[in-house]
Amino acid sequence: RIIVAGSINMDLVNHVKEFPKPGETIHGRGVDYLPGGKGANQAVAASLAGGDVTMIGAVGEDSFAEPLLSSLSERGVATGSVVRKPGTSGLAFITVSDAGENQIILSEGSNGKLRPEDVPAKQLADADVIVLQNEIPWETNLHVMQASRSERAKVVYNPAPVRQIPADAYPLIDLLVVNETEAAGLSGIEVASQQDAARAGRELLSRGARSVLVTLGAKGSLYLEGDGQPIFTPSFRVRAVDTTAAGDTFIGAFVAAGAQGLDTPAALRFATAASAIAVTREGAQASIPTRREIESFLAE
Ligand code: ADP
Repeated sequence: RIIVAGSINMDLVNHVKEFPKPGETIHGRGVDYLPGGKGANQAVAASLAGGDVTMIGAVGEDSFAEPLLSSLSERGVATGSVVRKPGTSGLAFITVSDAGENQIILSEGSNGKLRPEDVPAKQLADADVIVLQNEIPWETNLHVMQASRSERAKVVYNPAPVRQIPADAYPLIDLLVVNETEAAGLSGIEVASQQDAARAGRELLSRGARSVLVTLGAKGSLYLEGDGQPIFTPSFRVRAVDTTAAGDTFIGAFVAAGAQGLDTPAALRFATAASAIAVTREGAQASIPTRREIESFLAE
């Protein structure tokens, strides 16, 4: 069983030709309301990829709460442990350019109110893998990491948006998943190439993470574990229209593939295909493919 403890957001998405410069006002092409949040996206990705997934998180007492919960449950994610907090749900104001890049402003809302005591001990005890990001309070993440260690569940941590990880928390992480920005922010090593990713990844391993996965956007990803040879998985060539949730799709699909017994190289290829499909579609949760879609993409 897979537990994802993390954020649940409504993404308010606007499309523009180019991003505005500071002080500039431009017209968008209209707003879409799309369920997102890194936690919820990763939960949906793992569920659609075939995983048995339970979400732990918080929604507000506002009109966004119900659509956020039903977006999860319609995609097979168990939402019985999601709590409600006074105030608004998490909101993400997202702008997507014609080049397919995104800019995101987060308003954390109820995500910022998820406390360690909101995490049911029973859920952690039943889990094989626990997936965390940085859109809920660090205190809650740390509690889940420590509890997972005593329950022997594997901790997958995606420190996004990036913030420093206390030195004594690295050894609690079984798999640290970072994109180029996060890898650089944590390791202090600029990451643009596979070689940079290997250096940054080794630095993060030396701090105590058991394995590290650096995603490199359109280039692919690099997986490092112990003293073994790094595994580079090139991305698939596709026409990207919206890279929102590329990393989330990758993580969810990778975790689900591992839970279904695929070995690491096969799970990496599966996740690479899942995220390639996601970037060809608009939106966060709406862009995440099913296991069937991933398998037929790989068979092409
Ligand atoms: P994040 O979304 O967290 O910034 P990345 O941009 O590194 O993460 O993307 C995660 C994964 O998604 C990559 O490792 C790659 O497999 C896939 N991906 C991202 N962008 C593209 C693209 N333009 N074409 C094909 N695959 C992509």
